[in-house]
Amino acid sequence: MTKNSHDCDVTIIGAGPSGSVAAGILRKKGYHVIVLEREHFPRFVIGESLLPQSMVFIEEAGMLDAVNAGGFQVKNGAFFHRDATTAFFDFREKFSPGPGTTYQVPRAQFDKLLADEASRAGADIRYGHSVTAMTPDPHSPSVTVQPETGDAYTLHSRFVLDASGYGRVLSRLLNLELPSELDPRKSVFTHIIDNALDSEWDREKIVIAVHPQNHQIWYWLIPFTQGRASVGAVLPKAQAESYAEDDPALLRRMVKEEGFLNKLLRNAEFDTPVRTIEGYSCKVKTLHGPGFALLGNAGEFLDPVFSSGVTIAMKSASLAAHLLEKQFENQPVNWEADYAEVLMLGVNTFRAYVNAWYTTEFQDVIFSQGKQQDDKNVREMISSILAGYVWDRANPLTNESDRRLRALAEICRSL
Ligand SMILES: Cc1cc2nc3c(=O)[nH]c(=O)nc-3n(C[C@H](O)[C@H](O)[C@H](O)COP(=O)(O)OP(=O)(O)OC[C@H]3O[C@@H](n4cnc5c(N)ncnc54)[C@H](O)[C@@H]3O)c2cc1C
Repeated sequence: MTKNSHDCDVTIIGAGPSGSVAAGILRKKGYHVIVLEREHFPRFVIGESLLPQSMVFIEEAGMLDAVNAGGFQVKNGAFFHRDATTAFFDFREKFSPGPGTTYQVPRAQFDKLLADEASRAGADIRYGHSVTAMTPDPHSPSVTVQPETGDAYTLHSRFVLDASGYGRVLSRLLNLELPSELDPRKSVFTHIIDNALDSEWDREKIVIAVHPQNHQIWYWLIPFTQGRASVGAVLPKAQAESYAEDDPALLRRMVKEEGFLNKLLRNAEFDTPVRTIEGYSCKVKTLHGPGFALLGNAGEFLDPVFSSGVTIAMKSASLAAHLLEKQFENQPVNWEADYAEVLMLGVNTFRAYVNAWYTTEFQDVIFSQGKQQDDKNVREMISSILAGYVWDRANPLTNESDRRLRALAEICRSL
């Protein structure tokens, strides 16, 4: 299907979830896809708790059977802990239609599985190949590629999808970056043998805990199979810098200070190096340009608190792949209206909930749950948002989210 002067139909930069899902969908449509991936897989990346909405895109890419057979830990909801209060949401009880369960995945294995599936479907994935330059063009954009060994080469295609995640290749090369509006935060995390008692937690739920004295600090505990888990703490960057400890000691101190996690992880073995990431929220001037579009984290990244990153990445891949089919069939495509605006509807819904988490309005809604769980409808609408169904405009909580959240918080605080 490739036109003569092109090396392929679509060049994809990066083989993370957005790149692999885009490649899978485009291959199903018969397009010639080359994926350029700087690393060799398996490689570590953070972002291990999926949302049920992502299963829709995995299925669309033809990868559902492989993911279901991958042996990952099933996830059906989220468990919250703050002070002496607990709350949980079961994603199977939700307002929006669609899957109610998903998985918690070590990303090294998960991303390799998706990339292998894309490759099996016919995508040409070139590991150890970094994109170093790009020339936008509405009909024949090109990228310069530097392989680990050998000379750099140029690749011409009909379109370029930047799925480079934290690499943010095109936003850096084309000067598209904007400062994030979210306060800078630092995250410190590792993988452990949790040695937690099954009687003390439900391994099918992610644990989100809040620091008892400082509600700006929160934690994740993401269970994997075989007794392993991912644990991390997220702190305001300035506060993280005020501690004298090194990163491993800071993580241990944080866990110690949160009663629920401290008890649950009392026998945990910290057997993996501690990692950190900071200043990860990002924004761009535009999500598309002549002959290119930005997917997933290569475009906008908010905050990890609701595990939305991979879901947004896959949604962007799905939207872009369908628009490319239209464009290649010479149908009119408006990348602003049909891609950026559609994607941002959901991203902005998540943004409202992230902001309200840090003002603590949404925390108060979550933790008042015991008192107002009688309102099954509201509970199911919140469950849908937490399950990633933020593009479902039938859910009233996806519209005017800021105002509705404020109103909801006021009601919950008065209970
Ligand atoms: C602390 C923290 C916790 C998080 N927790 C979660 C979570 O629980 N759930 C969730 O869904 N999300 C989470 N996220 C977000 C998640 O990490 C990302 O949203 C997700 O990985 C984005 O996928 P992607 O495909 O866009 O990019 P990535 O997964 O980053 O993949 C991009 C790929 O591009 C490659 N690349 C980079 N530069 C180049 C180049 N120049 N040339 C070629 N290839 C290149 C990279 O090697 C990489 O393999 C978290 C984020 C943070 C910071």
